[in-house]
Amino acid sequence: MTLLFPLPGCRLVRIARDGPAALTIVAEAKHGHACCPTCRAVSTSVHSQYWRRPADLPSSGKAVKMQLAARRFYCRDPACPRRAFAERFPKLLTRHAQRTRRLAEAQARTGLALGGRPPRSRAAASATPADG
Ligand SMILES: [Zn+2]
Repeated sequence: MTLLFPLPGCRLVRIARDGPAALTIVAEAKHGHACCPTCRAVSTSVHSQYWRRPADLPSSGKAVKMQLAARRFYCRDPACPRRAFAERFPKLLTRHAQRTRRLAEAQARTGLALGGRPPRSRAAASATPADG
């Protein structure tokens, strides 16, 4: 299944239908640890979990929404000023992104191909979700 939905740094949990025209990919981090972005110390102390829901490239004509379990970790280094931090998925998403890197790249390519003009039809936009 990871051939159809490559998730760098993540593990696919399940794929669910989200109505007749959409899929939801549920995923989580592969590893049970994360590095503090301030001191680079490895932490396995989970503070909490939350969901990130970025848009992804469409698949088989269906819109794809990810549901990515993201955790907050405690930094246990007493010299570090940061007490907690959120794990990151740098190969999949930028920080605070609402869409995956591959969707952002596809939208950028479409924009460049159209010379910055809006597409004349939905087909010209190759069924990718609108920028957002
Ligand atoms: Zn730290």
